[in-house]
Amino acid sequence: MALIPIEVEAGKVIFREGDPPDVAYLIEAGEVRVLSSRHGEQVLLATLRAGDLLGEMAVIDDAPRTATAIAHGHCVLLPIDRAAIGERLEQTDPIIRALLEGQIQRYRSGLSAMQGRPLVAPKPSAFRRSGQDGVESVDKIRLESQLREALATGDLELRFQPLIEIASEKVAGYEALVRWNHPIRGAVSPAEFIALAEETSLINPVGELVLNRAIDALVRLADGGVDPLPFIAINVSPKQLMESDLLNRTVDRTRAAGVPVNRIKLEITESRMVDYPTVQALLLRCHREGIEVSLDDFGTGFSNLGHLHALEFDTVKVDQAFARHMMTSKRAMALAQSIIRLIHSLDADCVVEGVETEAQLEVLRGLGVRYAQGYLVGRPQPLGDVLAAWSR
Ligand code: C2E
Ligand code: CA
Ligand code: CA
Repeated sequence: MALIPIEVEAGKVIFREGDPPDVAYLIEAGEVRVLSSRHGEQVLLATLRAGDLLGEMAVIDDAPRTATAIAHGHCVLLPIDRAAIGERLEQTDPIIRALLEGQIQRYRSGLSAMQGRPLVAPKPSAFRRSGQDGVESVDKIRLESQLREALATGDLELRFQPLIEIASEKVAGYEALVRWNHPIRGAVSPAEFIALAEETSLINPVGELVLNRAIDALVRLADGGVDPLPFIAINVSPKQLMESDLLNRTVDRTRAAGVPVNRIKLEITESRMVDYPTVQALLLRCHREGIEVSLDDFGTGFSNLGHLHALEFDTVKVDQAFARHMMTSKRAMALAQSIIRLIHSLDADCVVEGVETEAQLEVLRGLGVRYAQGYLVGRPQPLGDVLAAWSR
């Protein structure tokens, strides 16, 4: 349907209470009165003017009109197609959709109580296009508020997974991996809640906690006489890079704690690295401060070779999928070899993740890979276990 502005004469009914919701309008000129019946009398609910939307509520939740709209003077209205509104809703965050749906339902039940008639249940609408949607959004809201609470109550913990230098077989450092001890669900994987935290600004306090705990761990190791100190790599998400002054805080806090700043490394996942100039600026600043940066999960997602020349990562971490498949597939082995050669030719250190067997480790040794990480080397462990290992 071609949607062009329509002219409406004064006093004309635009839609009536009970009509099906075929279209919404943007009022371009004039005034519209919205009336509702109450005990047989018409009550004025609102007067809408140029720039206001009219009749969008019924279109959104696909329920009959709850009010009558009458042009108060000559009006120009731009019809807005239901499909266009549906498409916008479809693209919206499910949580926003759930909030909007809740508000509309509340408004409808208030109105039906005022009108003294039963509430007409909306049809499955733009809100509930996928059956899971409503459930997912409520789950997300619940999880998000529980995560906020976990931050306050200290239910987030760090685990430290060792990386060995393959040649010496000595632990060179650790990757800090966050864990959520959920009171009901037990240990919730970061794979589940980091993405959620990234959707909001919650990732910033999570990142703060990780940074502080990683620095604490370095202090405890130094206090225990460990020298040279292993590095601790922390995962940072693009949102943290964009929104918080992460690098300055890292430098200030490590200095204040009396540990060398170069014992903290940062890991960035390329598939989530949206803004290349920001990452490039971060790399420059990190290098000025002596902090190394790793490119995480390389070889999966959006690995973009075109950017590697400009982004001077110190370390590239080969995704665990390669360690997993290279032993059983010739093609995967050929790919792993090529990727490792590529990393070396860029003068970057190479970490292969997900090393679970001696056979994998031997292959990597033969290929000249510097670091290995995975269950063979060690599982993510609490700080107490790390300290105990160094005190032996
Ligand atoms: P990642 O950075 O790739 O971390 C490695 C993941 O692989 C960890 O899962 C680790 O437990 C797992 N892993 C290590 N060795 C092996 C192995 O030999 N075999 C197998 N099958 N898995 C292994 P985890 O701890 O569940 O973390 C998942 C992801 O969550 C991480 O992937 C990282 O992207 C993210 N993440 C974890 N902690 C943080 C954090 O503090 N901040 C941010 N922004 N992201 C984090
Ligand atoms: Ca990582
Ligand atoms: Ca990784």
